[in-house]
Amino acid sequence: MNGANVNPSSLPAGTGCPVPAARPIEIRHERGQQQVFCGLAGIVWLHRKIQDAFFLVVGSRTCAHLMQSAAGVMIFAEPRFGTAIIEDRDLAGLADANAELDRVVNRLLERRPDIRMLFLVGSCPSEVIKLDLDRAAERLSERHAPQVRVVSYTGSGLETAFTQGEDSCLEALVPLLPNASSTEASLLIVGTLADVVEDQFRRQFAALGIKDVAFFPPRRSTELPAVGPNTRFLLAQPYLRDTARALEKRGATHLPAPFPLGAEGTGLWLQAAARAWNVGDETFTAATAGPRERAERALARCRPLLAGKRIFFFPDSQLEPPLARFLARELGMELIEVGTPFLQRAHLAAELELLPEGTQLVEGQDVEAQLDRCRAQKPDLVVCGLGLANPLEAEGITTKWSIELVFSPIHGFDQAGDLAELFVRPLDRRARLAGL
Ligand code: SF4
Repeated sequence: MNGANVNPSSLPAGTGCPVPAARPIEIRHERGQQQVFCGLAGIVWLHRKIQDAFFLVVGSRTCAHLMQSAAGVMIFAEPRFGTAIIEDRDLAGLADANAELDRVVNRLLERRPDIRMLFLVGSCPSEVIKLDLDRAAERLSERHAPQVRVVSYTGSGLETAFTQGEDSCLEALVPLLPNASSTEASLLIVGTLADVVEDQFRRQFAALGIKDVAFFPPRRSTELPAVGPNTRFLLAQPYLRDTARALEKRGATHLPAPFPLGAEGTGLWLQAAARAWNVGDETFTAATAGPRERAERALARCRPLLAGKRIFFFPDSQLEPPLARFLARELGMELIEVGTPFLQRAHLAAELELLPEGTQLVEGQDVEAQLDRCRAQKPDLVVCGLGLANPLEAEGITTKWSIELVFSPIHGFDQAGDLAELFVRPLDRRARLAGL
C-alpha cells in the first residue's frame, strides 16, 4: 500500500483535477490483491442494449463459468453471448486456433441469422496464447459482409476490470461510426443507458430544443451514430476514458459535467448540453422544473432514512465517486471511504469539486488492508461486490451489492428516488430483522 495525502490542486498539470485548494480531498493509491470482475462482465448489459449483436468470448471454461454466474437466469433465455472454449489441443499448438474459430463462427452465424454484429471478445487465455483476434475479426468480416460485421475487443482480466469492458467495446466501435456530414452541431450521449432512461433523456433534450441527439451504443448495430468535428458528447458513465479519447480523435468535443445521478447531477449534466446549445436560463428551468421537482420529492422521502448514516465504498465499477457525491449532498450520508478501481481525473473533475471537504478517495485496491479499515470504522452501510457482501453481512455489517448499481436504471430525474431506495433497502431489511 502506498498512501499519500494529495491536495488535488497541487497535482501536476495535465491531471485535469481542478479541486480548489480550500477543499482538499485525500487521494490514496493502493496496490495489492483485488476483488473485482474482469471486463467480460460488461457483456451482460451490452448484449441487452445492442439487440442484434452477439458476443463470442474466445476463452476458457473459467470465462464461460463467469458469464453463467454473472448473467444468472438470463442464460436460459437464448442470450446473445457464448464462449468459444480454447481446448488443450489449441493451447498445445496441435490445432490451428484460427481455423477452429472460423468453424465456430460459421456455425454460429448459420444458426443465428438475426445477428448483424459479432464481437470476438478476448480473454486472458486468448491473450496468453497470443491469438490475434483483430486479424480474425478482419478476416471474418470480409467473409460475412455485408450481412454481419465482426469486431474484436478485449474483456480479459489482465487488461480490464468490470466496467472497463464496456469502454473497450465502445472504443472498438468508434472507427466504424460514419462521418457526420451535417454542419450543424449534434449531441452524442456516450455510455450504455437503460432504454427507458434513454427515452426520458431524448424527451428532455427535445424540450430544451436540442434536436439532433444520438446515443452510443445504439439499440441496433445498424444504427451507429455519425461523428465528426460538429459532434459534442456527454458521457453518461464515468468509465469511458478510451472511448472518449477515440471520439476526440474523430474530432468530437467532450462536454465536461458531473454524471446524471440524482436530481443535482442530472440537472448539471443537462445544463452542460444546454450551455453548449445556448439555451436560455428560462427555457432550461421551464423544461426541467417538473421532473426535478418529482425527483426532489422522491428523495425527500428517503432522506430521513439515510441522513447521518456512514457509508464505505469498496472499488468496483468506477461509479463510486458520483454515487458518493449524490449520497452525501442529496441524502446527507457521511462518506467514510470512497474506493474506486481507477480515478479518471479528467472526466471526474466536476464530481471531485462537489465531494465534501476531506473525502477519503482510494484508487486501486489492497483488499485485506481495506477490509481492516472497514471493520475498524464500523460503517452503517458498505457498498461492495458479491464476493465480500455475505462474509461482511455475517460479521454484522450491512452491505449493498455494487453490481445492482450497474444493472439497474439509475440515471436521470425519474430514477433518482429508485437510486436512493437501493441504499435504503439493506438498512431497512437489517432494521426489520433486528426487530424479530
Ligand atoms: S477473461 Fe480472465 S479473468 Fe475473466 S473469466 Fe476469463 S480467465 Fe477469468
